[in-house]
Amino acid sequence: MALIVQKFGGSSVSDTDALKRVAQRVVDAHRLGHEVVVVVSAMGDTTDDLVDMAAELNPDAPKREMDMLLSAGERISMSLLAMAITKLGVPAYAYTGRQAGIHTDTRYGKASITGMVPERVARALKLGSVAIVAGFQGVNDNGDVTTLGRGGSDTTAVALAAALHADVCEIYTDVDGLFTADPRIVPLARQVRRLDYQETLELAANGAKILHLRAVEFARRYKVALHVRSSFSNKPGTWIADCDPSPRLTGYLASECFTTKETEMEQPIISGIAHDRSQEKITVVGLPDQPGTAAELFRQVAKADANIDMIVQNIAASTPGRSTITFTCQSGDAKDVLARLEEARDVLDYREIVYNPDIGKLSLVGAAMRTSPGISARFFDALSKANVNVEMISTSEVRISVIVDADRLDEAVRALHHEFQLDASETEAVVYGGTGR
Ligand code: ASP
Ligand code: MG
Repeated sequence: MALIVQKFGGSSVSDTDALKRVAQRVVDAHRLGHEVVVVVSAMGDTTDDLVDMAAELNPDAPKREMDMLLSAGERISMSLLAMAITKLGVPAYAYTGRQAGIHTDTRYGKASITGMVPERVARALKLGSVAIVAGFQGVNDNGDVTTLGRGGSDTTAVALAAALHADVCEIYTDVDGLFTADPRIVPLARQVRRLDYQETLELAANGAKILHLRAVEFARRYKVALHVRSSFSNKPGTWIADCDPSPRLTGYLASECFTTKETEMEQPIISGIAHDRSQEKITVVGLPDQPGTAAELFRQVAKADANIDMIVQNIAASTPGRSTITFTCQSGDAKDVLARLEEARDVLDYREIVYNPDIGKLSLVGAAMRTSPGISARFFDALSKANVNVEMISTSEVRISVIVDADRLDEAVRALHHEFQLDASETEAVVYGGTGR
């Protein structure tokens, strides 16, 4: 008997028919003798609709009330699903984040989990019931509802899987798994069978939208095996872990999931290409070229509570004693960052700020890059042949990222997909619902 956490995204629970289908899947796993914990997102576009309604009433809605509102979407789907499962003859109980013992800090709208005490969930399982937990929400020390940020239900699921020592955390969505690139941009994208945590982290951190970044971080820290798969088919998805599936899952998981990395015929060098349109570029021109400048600059930027991604510094030959620092941040944070920099104009003593919102980021990811020389040369060569200008570069052990003009991003992704022979011989990707939720 295995303990399985199943997380269903919004497109998998979009209406009552979808809920019936999910209920059947849960019951099937339960009838095989497994313990099943289910985490649900809000139905379809519910969260977006709630956000829109709030914005109509108050564009600057109080954050506490916003979380109270958004947490309601998951309450609807969790209770309806409990009813559908019970109808199939299996007892099921739905729990809010608070009832499931998910404790968070007080950062409304982007709370972090600080403790997990899923006692009631564990008790429900002991009694032979299915436990359903509302995704993306917890409770803070004041007893208020908090949410974990958009897409945060993945994190709820992984955190529960970790706390309950689950054998697998299944992330059900509307695509068959992770692909070598976004099938909407690269029609010949192929499904990836297997990824390790670091590759998945790099993909998620660099714009692959299928998994919440914090969920992957959590999975890596607590060694939770993830299986990203479609709720619309029974095909094997993408197995994400540093090890093979537990033998307790034999007969539950498709046999393809048990092929180990070593036995795979051909290990591709590149696992995937992620892209991200959500960043913007800010250049601070003519900063004093002396110790402490960068520290002061990023101290000011930090006041905007913005996450900075790429950073490049250049010394301009034409203006001795002056340097230029360029960085990227999330588009939602750029306005605040620019305001902070304007405020700090005297302290920072720069000449000018150049702001460019029209950029795209592309990242090539693969664990085998560590041991494969010549990747960078091929990477930049392919971009140059596609006539794509590179504006910024950053690398890690298993990744190369570049910033390019937003208009050239799709072309750049396709060029690299082709260069690294990731193209499938025929179209393989099926996007069932289309949103990746
Ligand atoms: N319903 C929330 C959202 O749409 C959380 C989630 O689906 O993961 O962002
Ligand atoms: Mg999601």
